[in-house]
Amino acid sequence: MINSSKNPLVEFQGVTIKFFENNKEYIAVENLNLNMEKGEKTAVIGESGCGKTVTALSLMGLLSGSAKITDGKILFDGKEISTLNSDELNKLRGKDMSMIFQEPMTSLNPLIKVGKQIDENILEHSTNKNKKEAKARTVSMLKEVGFADAEKIYSVYPHQLSGGMRQRIMIAMALINNPKLIVADEPTTALDATIQAQIMKLLNKLNHEKGTALLLISHDLGLVNNICEKCYIMYAGHIVEWGKTKDLLENPMHPYTKGLINSIPSIENKGKPLNSIKGFVPSVEERKNKGCVFADRCDYCMDICRKIIPKDKITEDRVIKCHLYNEKDK
Ligand code: SF4
Repeated sequence: MINSSKNPLVEFQGVTIKFFENNKEYIAVENLNLNMEKGEKTAVIGESGCGKTVTALSLMGLLSGSAKITDGKILFDGKEISTLNSDELNKLRGKDMSMIFQEPMTSLNPLIKVGKQIDENILEHSTNKNKKEAKARTVSMLKEVGFADAEKIYSVYPHQLSGGMRQRIMIAMALINNPKLIVADEPTTALDATIQAQIMKLLNKLNHEKGTALLLISHDLGLVNNICEKCYIMYAGHIVEWGKTKDLLENPMHPYTKGLINSIPSIENKGKPLNSIKGFVPSVEERKNKGCVFADRCDYCMDICRKIIPKDKITEDRVIKCHLYNEKDK
C-alpha cells in the first residue's frame, strides 16, 4: 500500500500551518500528511503560492514569526521536531538536514570567502575544531561538486562567482556534514538550462553515492519526472494527489493534476493555443474553508464539491483528494 512507510525519515502528520496577522488568521497549509523514506527522492509540486515553500520551511524550523504550526506534528528520523526550540533545531540544521534555496546570494555572506563559510559549517557541528582539517574537507567537497580548481575557489568571495557556481557552493555547504536529508527549494529556477541539468545531475549522484534523501520543491514537472521517485501535488495548501512520479504523470487522476500536465507546452501542439487552467490560485486571504479548494477552477465541479471537503481516496498506488473518486459522493 502506497501510504505505508517502512523506513521513514520525514513524517508530516496532519500538519496545519497558519499565519497570524492584524488579529486575523490565515491557513497556509491544512492537514498535511507527507512521508519520505530514508534515501528517497520526493517532490512537492505546485504553482506559486500553493504552500510548498512554507512546508519546506516548517520542516527546517524556519517559519517566519507570524507563521505557526497549529495542528499535527513533524517527525524527523523518528523524533518529533515541530516542538524543538531554536538551539535544538540549530544542532539538526546543517548537520542532519540542510536546505538549498532558490537564490544562493541570499544565503551566502558576501563579506566572507566561500571556503571559510563552508569551514564554519564543519566547525560548528564538530567537536574537533581543527581548522586545517576543516579546510582539507572543504577543498575535497568543492572538488566533489565539480570545481577542478577547488583551492582557488576556496579563496574567492560569492560575488566573484556565477549563479551556477554559487549554487554549487550552496550544495557543497549543504552536504559537507553528510546530512540525511537535503531540502531543495526551486534550486535551479534562477539558472539557465545547461547549469540546471548539471546541478540536478550532481544532486542525483550524491543521492546515489551517499544515500542523502532529497525533498525537491518545484513547479517543474519535467525536472521532477527525471529526478524523484515519488511526488505530491499541492494546491492552495492541500495535497490533492500523490503517488509514484512516473505513474502519476502518465496517468493523472485529480482534475488539478490533469490541468497542470495539460498546460505543459509540447512540440506536437506547436502553433496551437496553449492549454491553461482557468482562474488563479487563491491567495491565503481568499481561501474558503468549505468544500474542495479547487472547486472554482474545476471543470468537473459538482454540488457536493462546494459543501464538503473531499476525503482522501487511498488505492494501492495513489492517494487522491476528490469527490469524483468516492462513489457515494457522486
Ligand atoms: Fe473538482 Fe469536485 Fe474533485 Fe474538487 S472534489 S477536484 S471540485 S471534482
